[in-house]
Amino acid sequence: MTVQIFRPLFHVDECLAEIRECLEKGWTGLGFKTVQFEDAWKAYTGLAHAHFLNSATAGLHLAVNIFKHALGWRDGDEIISTPITFVSSNHVILYENLKPVFADVDEFLCLDPDDVERKITERTRAVMFVGIGGNAGQLGRVAEICRKRGLKLILDAAHMSGTRLDGADPGHLADAAVYSYQAVKNLPTADSGMLCFKDSALDALARRQSWLGISKDTYERAKDPGAYSWMYDVDTVGFKYHGNSIMAAIGMVQLKYLDKDNDFRRQVAGWYDAAFAGANMVIPVPVAPGCLSSRHFYQVEVSDRATVIKALNDHDIHPGVHYRDNTEYPMYKRARGTCPNAHRLSERVLSLPMQLELTREDVEKVARVVLDAAS
Ligand SMILES: *Cc1c(COP(=O)(O)O)cnc(C)c1O
Repeated sequence: MTVQIFRPLFHVDECLAEIRECLEKGWTGLGFKTVQFEDAWKAYTGLAHAHFLNSATAGLHLAVNIFKHALGWRDGDEIISTPITFVSSNHVILYENLKPVFADVDEFLCLDPDDVERKITERTRAVMFVGIGGNAGQLGRVAEICRKRGLKLILDAAHMSGTRLDGADPGHLADAAVYSYQAVKNLPTADSGMLCFKDSALDALARRQSWLGISKDTYERAKDPGAYSWMYDVDTVGFKYHGNSIMAAIGMVQLKYLDKDNDFRRQVAGWYDAAFAGANMVIPVPVAPGCLSSRHFYQVEVSDRATVIKALNDHDIHPGVHYRDNTEYPMYKRARGTCPNAHRLSERVLSLPMQLELTREDVEKVARVVLDAAS
């Protein structure tokens, strides 16, 4: 049997019933199901605002765009970010002519608060924190630094749907938190995401900006039977970033199963932990204290990763690597050498299969191959 790193599982009949409702109503776009899903997400996380978008990349970009314009950030101002992430987190900083400044990571593969402090300059405006694999790392300390130094905290929570930190959604610590519901994330739709601003005025701006800067959405206008239902204004150059009802329909169903799915991922992680207990050539990346991780990833550190991956592939097991040190990319090479821990770990860490159909035997087999190849 082939074991892939991820394989999304959909509750097909329930998804089709939700989609059918959109089709029968004749409303597949912005509004209707997107509103229901935003309400469901707010109820689930306890966050004050939730704006459904066509991707988390769009959400991260909107967060940076809205802060920049609302707070008067200048071109060339800096956002402290991590080299261990999917490139979205860093590209969105460049989209707005701001400068990503890389800080190093800690043992959780998340931003190291001490290095964040060292990298703060006169021009620092925000920190982009990524909860790798659902791990909250030292988010609390980073939030504290941001509060003291007057910096905005943007949380790339692409892997954190369902993660809890001290019992609450980690989005509560951020000025803007962005979740991904991309095809292989732990709450998969096909492509979509959620942007949750703490501030209601910024949430309102984001809603306008995600539909080309138009002041009133079609759903609101449809509810207005008056002679001016066609009337709207365009104040800013916005983007086409809002989500649609078909994606929201799938999201509604997936959300119902999120806690159960994450419980299962945590059980798989427990099986891996048991299999690696006492091994000194295979070191699991720890989950931070106080964090109940979504366990989107189960990562281990080994010294000869290429050999381990080759051995797994020979058994038709396909792990992943999250992520290459972003300063290795030509785009970000000016920062090469600034984050030694990130660089070292990015060459040693791999992500083992984490899917909802794994059995304990599968996990033990994967672990055995890893242990044999690593020692
Ligand atoms: C997947 C991912 C994103 C982007 O999510 P999309 O919904 O695909 O745009 C951003 N950051 C991280 C860490 C991711 O893994």
